[in-house]
Order: sequence, then structure tokens, then C-alpha cells
Amino acid sequence: MSALPPGSIIGIVGGGQLGRMSAMAAARLGYRCHILTPEPDSPAAQVSAGVTIGDFEDPAALREFAAHVDVITFEFENISAEGLDLLASLKPVRPSPHVLRISQDRIAEKSFLNASGAPTAPWRPVASLAELEAAVAVLGLPAILKTTRLGYDGKGQALLRTPGELAAAWHELSPKPLVLEGFVDFACEISVIVARSEDGATVAFDAVENTHRDHILDTTLAPARIGAPLAEAAQALACHIAERLELVGLLAVEMFVASDGRVLVNEIAPRPHNSGHWTIDACPASQFELHIRAVAGLPLPPAIRHSDAVMKNLVGVAETELWPQILATPGLIPHLYGKREARPGRKMGHATRLFPRGALPGPFGVAAALGPLGAP
Ligand code: AMP
Repeated sequence: MSALPPGSIIGIVGGGQLGRMSAMAAARLGYRCHILTPEPDSPAAQVSAGVTIGDFEDPAALREFAAHVDVITFEFENISAEGLDLLASLKPVRPSPHVLRISQDRIAEKSFLNASGAPTAPWRPVASLAELEAAVAVLGLPAILKTTRLGYDGKGQALLRTPGELAAAWHELSPKPLVLEGFVDFACEISVIVARSEDGATVAFDAVENTHRDHILDTTLAPARIGAPLAEAAQALACHIAERLELVGLLAVEMFVASDGRVLVNEIAPRPHNSGHWTIDACPASQFELHIRAVAGLPLPPAIRHSDAVMKNLVGVAETELWPQILATPGLIPHLYGKREARPGRKMGHATRLFPRGALPGPFGVAAALGPLGAP
């Protein structure tokens, strides 16, 4: 596909904040976006030229959506691969349904990663309680039992500490089959976001360090406070995975830095990622611009970072109520996603604070820099 001319329409499957920020980057490049979402008044549709309100699994809605657009991407992985196949029969879809199939299913994902030479925590597929017991005998405890599909933000997983917990966890988690993962004693969690164009060029942002609260991303520090060799190894691993996927688009690779210094891949997501929101303010071209450029067939600029950054998510009611104080804090760069109602665990926005390169403060400095959001 040659470069999409200005004025073309990019279709985005999914109406959330990732679609919203992608659409805002697309607008800056002279494109229009058209969103497919079941939700009226979605964050993405609020800033887009058009929307098809319909179910992701409804062939009529998929056809109508495809008729409006020149190229299709997604910001959301819980569309069925068959739905994406239907879209791909009508318009170019980037990344391809093949990439979605791998990232949607933890067994397919881990099998692909290991076959590509990307290390992960040791794991076993488990299709019965007997298989779970056998897997625990090999991997030991503690271990983490996860659903293979539809898991996000810590949903669909259970930490197993003692043999007595196996049966309850097996019965509680669904859909089956499940995956058992050895527990990684990690020093920190990092991620790398990489873009890859149709001609095979890859560019990767610096590795960043993520902390979670209640299984939801809380803060991202850019760059990660790890040594250059580890950071470069993480970037190289992310580029390698994008190449092996033959990705056209954007890929987030979440990794553990184990306490023994190994880098292990936790999961991959072929779309913009919450741990890349800092790039809007700290980079000349953000993850969203790289996403749109890769999808539209435009050249990829280098993923340069002009500043260090701290990104803090605004999750749930209490943090969202801090909005007036956030707006009044000099240096805090506010982003709100246009969601009507804050609910526990719902990502409502984020705030970014920039520092000169090399001047990312330690934990107390970060908390202070976040002003009203820095309180524990
Ligand atoms: P996930 O849904 O796979 O991204 O897992 C959510 C969070 O659970 C991760 O960000 C980690 O903090 C933790 N976690 C997941 N898998 C493991 C593991 N194998 N060992 C230790 N912690 C894990």
C-alpha cells in the first residue's frame, strides 16, 4: 500500500482513550478517523469525523464501518479474529488478523514468543484440575494461574501460594483452558513500544518502568532506571518480536526485569499502550503518531525522547476529583478522556510531568513532582 494521502479516512476498531489519542494524532497529520464502537458518545468518537455504532461481532456493522474508511486499525483486542478477517476482506487491516490472533490468546502468545527465542516465565497450558496439579509439581509455588483470553488489568488471574488453593482457583477462573506461570521474582516491570512499517523499518522508544496499583498501571517512569545494557537488550527484544510477527503498526512489549537480571516477556499488545502515554509530551512524535504513520504507510521518524517523564494515571473517583488541583499545578500536563462517569478502576485520564534528560528524580522527588497526585 502506498502512503495514504491527506484527507483519507482511518478506521479504528474500538472507542476508548487509545483510539481517542490515535485520532488526535491522525488529525495532526491531516487524516480523518472513523470509529467502530457499540458505545454512544465514546472517548474516540468525540474527537473523530465519524462513527459507526455497532457490535464488533455484527457483520452488518463491520461492513458498514469498512465502507466508510480507507484503512483499518484497532485500539482494542477483544474483537474476534473472525470479525477482523471480515474487515480484512474489505479493506487493508493493520496490524493483520494474524497478529491479533497471537496476542489474544496467552497460549498462542507464549508459544510464539518462545519459538521466536523471546524468553518468558516458565509456563504450562492447563485444561483440567489434574493438569494444574501436574503443572504445579513442575513449576512449583508460588505461581500465577491466568485465563488465556480476555484478561487485562489483572482480571482473570489468581496467585497460588499453597496446594490448598488450587481447586478453588481452577473452578473460579474462566473461560478455560488456563495457563499456569511460574512466579517471577522481579526487580521491576518495564515496557518497550516499537513501531514497524510495511517496508520492515522498526523504531523503538526507550524502555520505561511501570508500577501497578490493584493490577492497573499507576505510574510510568521514562526512562526505566535500569542500566544501558539492559535497556538496549529490551529494545532489541521488542524489535525482534515485531519483526517475527511481521507487524505493520505498533506493538507494546511488557517485560519483567528478574532479580537475577534476566529480561522476560510478560505479554505483548499490538496497539498503543498506556505505558506509552508519556510520549505525547516528551517526544517529537508520540506512540500515537507512530501508530498512525505505520498504519498509513508514512515514513517512521526516530523515536526520540527530548525529556525524561513521569506519567500518572487518573483512575477511579478519588483521583478524578483532583482534576481542579491538577489543572492548577504548574508543570503537570493534564489529559482527560471525556468519559462521563468515574467508576472504581476506570481510567479517566492521566497527567505527565517532564524533566530535563537525565534529571528524573528518585521516588520522593517523583511524588513531589506529581503534586496532588503524588500523595500515597
Ligand atoms: P498480566 O495481566 O499478565 O499483565 O499481569 C498483571 C500483573 O500481574 C503484572 O503486571 C505483574 O505485576 C503481575 N504478574 C503477572 N504475571 C506474573 C508472574 N509470572 N510473576 C510475577 N508477577 C506477575
